[in-house]
Amino acid sequence: MKTAVVQKPQSSIVIEDRPIPEPKSGEVLIRVHACGVCHSDLDVLLGLFPFGKYPIVPGHEVAGVVEKIGPNVNWPAVGDRVGMAWLFSSCGHCKLCTQGDEVLCPFLEVTGVTKDGGYQEYMIAPAAYAAPIPDGLDFAEAGPLMCAGLTVFNGMRNAGYRVGQKVAVIGLGGLGHLAVLYAKAMGARVAVISNTPDKEAEARELGAEHFINTQSRKAADALKDWDGGADVIVATAPSTEAVTDAFSGLAPDGTLVLLGIGPGEVKTSALNLVGGRRHLMGSPSGSRKDIRATLDFSVHNHVVPRITKVPLEDAGKMLELMHAGKLRGRAVLMLR
Ligand SMILES: [Zn+2]
Ligand SMILES: [Zn+2]
Repeated sequence: MKTAVVQKPQSSIVIEDRPIPEPKSGEVLIRVHACGVCHSDLDVLLGLFPFGKYPIVPGHEVAGVVEKIGPNVNWPAVGDRVGMAWLFSSCGHCKLCTQGDEVLCPFLEVTGVTKDGGYQEYMIAPAAYAAPIPDGLDFAEAGPLMCAGLTVFNGMRNAGYRVGQKVAVIGLGGLGHLAVLYAKAMGARVAVISNTPDKEAEARELGAEHFINTQSRKAADALKDWDGGADVIVATAPSTEAVTDAFSGLAPDGTLVLLGIGPGEVKTSALNLVGGRRHLMGSPSGSRKDIRATLDFSVHNHVVPRITKVPLEDAGKMLELMHAGKLRGRAVLMLR
């Protein structure tokens, strides 16, 4: 089978021929149809995850079909449509796992970071962690929902978003465009904050009522003028400066949820935080209950990612474009 491998940090992606692996007890072999290209894959290539293992096959936006099941697997069955997200597996018995927050498990294994992911024709997954893909979602659309979709959908829920509130989305890339679509589908008023003025047309087309170009206006000032500020700010761009600049544009009692990981620190004054009873939080990916909720919501509310389909061989090129900030929408590697 064809496999795209990162041998070591700060190297490049190499296409290799490998034997198709055999699923062991409790495992399934997934025939990968599509795998989205996530910003975290670039972080794998750059060696930014201290817990990363190498060599590694990146990719945690996997959508495919169960090709084969190992011993002691009752579910899923051969032929089932399934996906794999960031959460490859967790310990299953720690406090966080038992309360349903397995994505926070200290013994987490991460698809495409500590375990081989979806940049290949077949991948091994623990049967219990495969997510069923609902009818009505094709593989290429389901892929990006496994990370980009899950992260923003779950992030908004974790931030305590309530119907009718104002949501500001920082960045209009793979996560950001989905954040606008989810926020609209959940009945929000939406603003997009971007340093790229030519993204305004796309933001409006996706349903944003307000576009804040940070090259000409401070994000916080523009948000305050938006009927008193955003109730929720969804920060998808990997820039802590953008977060710092937008934070004081939160309405009182508002929450900024950080989803993109960038270098540096988020800064705000104590007065700003305490005086307005504002909240600053982060939210990583999600647990199995969350991926199922994301897929279910997406299919019933017609939230479909904007994608560009490319062959596996273009994986390295896509990550280069992403690194240069030139990748638009979500690139999806098509494996069949
Ligand atoms: Zn991701
Ligand atoms: Zn655990």
